[in-house]
Amino acid sequence: MALVPCVTLNDGTSLPAIGFGTYPLTGDDAVAAVESAIGCGYRLLDTAVNYGNEVEVGEGIRRSGIAREELVVTSKLPGRAHGYDEAVASVRDSLARLGLDRIDLHLIHWPNPRVGRYLDAWRALVDLQKDGLIRTVGVSNFTSEHLRVVIDDTGVVPAVNQIELHPHFPQPEMRTEHERLGIQTESWSPLGKRQAPFGAPPVAAAAEHHGVTPGQVILRWQVQLGSVPIPKSATPSRQQENLDVFGFTLSVDEMTAISALARPDGRLFGGDPDTHEEQ
Ligand code: NAP
Repeated sequence: MALVPCVTLNDGTSLPAIGFGTYPLTGDDAVAAVESAIGCGYRLLDTAVNYGNEVEVGEGIRRSGIAREELVVTSKLPGRAHGYDEAVASVRDSLARLGLDRIDLHLIHWPNPRVGRYLDAWRALVDLQKDGLIRTVGVSNFTSEHLRVVIDDTGVVPAVNQIELHPHFPQPEMRTEHERLGIQTESWSPLGKRQAPFGAPPVAAAAEHHGVTPGQVILRWQVQLGSVPIPKSATPSRQQENLDVFGFTLSVDEMTAISALARPDGRLFGGDPDTHEEQ
């Protein structure tokens, strides 16, 4: 089984340096994928209310037979739960669906700034952390401005910001901001939903040089950028492959060449946090 190092968060807890994404898996496929991923060695799992698979993730965890305390289970608050009472109720519903008495990492899924209630949602997560229902509180798709608003109000710095990050969209400004604030970056769609530039010369050359696959090069690039990627795969062999990125190191030149694949229009869909509205 691959040995996965951990990163330390600003609340003193830690996260495995790579995790397992579960969108858009549902039903038996989701249960099987989670059980198999845990069997491969994944200990960080990523779900959300809006993925509609928290029940299946909980079932996969139970079937895996792994000790609960070995896992870091992530879920996310949907847009329709932005508001203090709504957020508390949503987290309690997530716990019931997962069949757990604590969520290890809970994120606000999107800021929905036009609605303007993400601060109330953040205050609720901070209180739920004090109550012990959430271990670590974080956000997703927050810009510098959204981070400033929640930090100024509560004094609590999100431990994690999960953002879109892949070679066509490497997010240098957000990574610098996270470093300044002590926030751990997590990468969603780290393989660009399979549209990452697997065949681009810097990726292909590094894969050849290190005797690994293009997917492994891209995930290793994320790890060396200081981000925690959460690739999804329903295929056990690819789950295994994606976890196995700690036995080689990309050179500075290889890192620079992969980062240079950035495109101004590199986002996968209209996922601009300032305008994207999530229900
Ligand atoms: P992704 O992980 O970048 O890509 C998944 C796709 O790549 C699947 O089609 C998978 O196919 C394929 N794949 C997996 N490993 C591969 C490899 N080694 N080589 C080639 N293809 C490979 O995309 P994602 O699922 O959108 O993102 C990952 C996770 O991020 C999600 O599952 C979700 O948990 C999270 N997410 C969060 C947000 C947010 O707003 N916070 C947004 C999007 C996603 P197979 O399954 O057939 O192997």
